[in-house]
Amino acid sequence: MSTLILKFGGLSVGMTTGMTQLLSIVLHQHERWDRLLLVVSALDGVTDQLLEAAHLALLNNQRGYRRLVATIRTRHLALIEHLPLGAPERAALQADIDRLLFDMLATYESMSASEQISAPEWIDRVIGTGERMAARIVAALLRQNKLRGVAIDATDLIITDAAFGGAQPDFPRTREQISTNLLPLVERGIVPVITGFIGATPDAKPTTLGRGGSDYTASILAVCSDAAEVWVLTDVDGMMSADPREIDGARVIPSLSYSEVAELAYFGAKILHPRMIAPLRERRIPLRVRNVFKPQQPGTFISDAPTQAGFKAVTSIQGLGLRAQHSGSIATLAALVDQHLAALTGSHTDVMIAAQSSEQSFVTFVIPTSAGPDALHSLQDALAIDLAALDQRVPWLMQPVSVITVIGARIGDQHARTARLLAALVDQHL
Ligand code: ASP
Ligand code: MG
Repeated sequence: MSTLILKFGGLSVGMTTGMTQLLSIVLHQHERWDRLLLVVSALDGVTDQLLEAAHLALLNNQRGYRRLVATIRTRHLALIEHLPLGAPERAALQADIDRLLFDMLATYESMSASEQISAPEWIDRVIGTGERMAARIVAALLRQNKLRGVAIDATDLIITDAAFGGAQPDFPRTREQISTNLLPLVERGIVPVITGFIGATPDAKPTTLGRGGSDYTASILAVCSDAAEVWVLTDVDGMMSADPREIDGARVIPSLSYSEVAELAYFGAKILHPRMIAPLRERRIPLRVRNVFKPQQPGTFISDAPTQAGFKAVTSIQGLGLRAQHSGSIATLAALVDQHLAALTGSHTDVMIAAQSSEQSFVTFVIPTSAGPDALHSLQDALAIDLAALDQRVPWLMQPVSVITVIGARIGDQHARTARLLAALVDQHL
C-alpha cells in the first residue's frame, strides 16, 4: 500500500487560485497512490490574527477581538463564495464556519489569565480554529469533485505532551490513534483533510506544535502511517540556494540530504519547520518541496541518498550576539541563556551558536531575534542578575549580528574553497 502525504500551506488554501491548484494536484495524485492523506494550514495570516485576538481577549478587550473575529469570518466566507461549490455544500460549509467561530468567541469571552490556566494553554484552545476552518473548506471542495473528502481534527490523532505553544508528539500513542481513528476511514476510500499545527494532550487539552507546525504534522502523520513520501506544497519552487528576495542568482536545489535540509531549515530558510526532518530521516521517508502553482516542476527532493559534495546554499539569519568575559565554564552560561529563553518564550528556543576561547575566558552566544524583542529585553535583565551572582566582574555585551551559513555535504574536504568562500563573505560583510 503506497501512501502519500500532501501538505498544503496557507497560501495555497488562502486564495481561489491556490485552491484550484490544490484540487488539480489532489485529483491527479489520487489516481497514482493507494492512499492519500492531506494536511492543511490555516489561510495565510489567519493564525497571526487569531493570536492577536487571543491576546486582546486576555486583556478583556471585547471590541478588539470581536472586530478581528468579524474580519476572519468575512475572509473565509468570501473564499467560500468564490469556490465552485453547489448551493447545499456552500450553505453547510458556511454554517460549519460560523459554528467554529461561535465556539471560539465563547472561549474568548471566558478567557482571562487565571491562576489555573496559563496564557499559552488558553491560546492553544482557540488558535487551531484557522486550521479547522481550512480543513472543512478543502474537504467540501473535494466532495464537490467526486472525492470523499472528510475534515479531521488532529486533536483526535496527535497526542502530545502539555508544552502549550510548542508541544512534542508522543509517537507510540499517536500511531495507535492513527491506526484506530484514521486508517479505517482511508481504507473505505475517504480522503482525510487533516488540520495541521494542532494536537491534544492525553486528557484532551488542545495543544499546538509551534508556529509553522503544519509541516511537522505532515511528518508525524507520515511516520505513524508508514507513508512512502511527503510533499510540502508551497509558493516557492523548492529549497533555494539563497533567499531569492536578496540574491538574484538564487536557484532551486534539485536534491538534498536530510542533514543538509535540516541545517537549511534551522539556519533560516523558512520554508520548512526544522522539527519535521528528524522523524522522516529516522524512517527514511523522502520529502518533496514543490510549488503549488507549478506542479509540473520537480522542486527539491530530500532523501538519504548521498548528495554531491560541495556548497549548496547560503542562508542569513538575524540574531543577537551575547559576549562575555568569563572565567567559569561555557556550559553554565549556555544553560542559563537557554533556560531564560525557554521561560520567556514559553517554548524551547536553542542558543543557535556558542563559541569560546581556548582559555574559556571569553564566550559568545548567538540567539535568533525571532525570539522577539520583549524576550530579548527580559533575557538581558535576567542574565544581568544571574551573571552578577556568578561573578561580579562579568562584562556582558550584546549586539545585533547576522549569521551567514554555508550548507553542503562534505564541505570540510574542500579546505581551499571553503577558505576562499569565507574570505569573500567576510570581505563583503565587514
Ligand atoms: N497556521 C500555523 C502558523 O501560522 C501553522 C502553519 O502554518 O504551519 O503557524
Ligand atoms: Mg510553513
